[in-house]
Amino acid sequence: MIDFNDLDTDPMTSTPVAPIGAPEEIRAAAHMHNGGDAVFPCPKCLGSGLWRGIRRCFTCQGKGKVSKGVVAAAKGKVTKAANLAAAKAEFEAANPDLMKGLREIAGWHRFAGELLGKFEVYGELTAGQVGAALNSLAEVKRKREEKAAVRATETADRSGEVGVDRINALFATAMESGLKKPMFRTERLTIKPAKLHPGTLYVTDKAAGGEYVGKIVNGQFTARREAATDTLALLCAIAADPLKAATDYGRSTGVCGCCGRELTDPDSVKAGIGPICATKWGL
Ligand SMILES: [Zn+2]
Ligand SMILES: [Zn+2]
Repeated sequence: MIDFNDLDTDPMTSTPVAPIGAPEEIRAAAHMHNGGDAVFPCPKCLGSGLWRGIRRCFTCQGKGKVSKGVVAAAKGKVTKAANLAAAKAEFEAANPDLMKGLREIAGWHRFAGELLGKFEVYGELTAGQVGAALNSLAEVKRKREEKAAVRATETADRSGEVGVDRINALFATAMESGLKKPMFRTERLTIKPAKLHPGTLYVTDKAAGGEYVGKIVNGQFTARREAATDTLALLCAIAADPLKAATDYGRSTGVCGCCGRELTDPDSVKAGIGPICATKWGL
């Protein structure tokens, strides 16, 4: 229990007592420590007093000169930044996969984003943070694999073997004939080689609004969710008889399935394919 009578003043109403004996000596000592009245060119604006040549330099208040203490602080800042950059580079070199993995998912993975933030500040991650990061990356990988497996079972009934030898031969012939972007059009499906993945054929389907419905790699058609149930059967039919697929298309549309041009010559209309394309594609 506090006996308020013991106090000289009422603590609830009295104003704080001013510090006794303003430490002039201390201030003076600090002043001397900081170089006294000596001034040096401002390290921020290199003595110009202007920051980036336009604004008044904040460090020297536009004077262009600063005390020794300010110079030391600026030097310290530079050293600190250099140390941080070196630490970051070292940690990055020691943990390349970890950092790459974190950056890949940081856009949506909050914890990964937080860890990268800490890395920026401290230049490294603690052993505990590394452990947690590895766990997070493993978890993300596991979930991705799970999803891929589910997707594969969803479309398994629409995927399968396509006897692609003849389709491959078609494109090989077309390319040899000098066609840069061969595309094989049939009544519903269009097949074309993937530009960036040699050996892969992309399949689009008019019934799916011209959407990409899957790809053929090594004779195996992998359906996407957009693929209709009869896509594989259609592909097999095309692979079994490409000429029929091309001419069926040509006859029903009046357009050559190989080059997409209108068939004008009566013989071509009847054949369902232009004579030049038939040769170029080896049909
Ligand atoms: Zn300055
Ligand atoms: Zn043609």
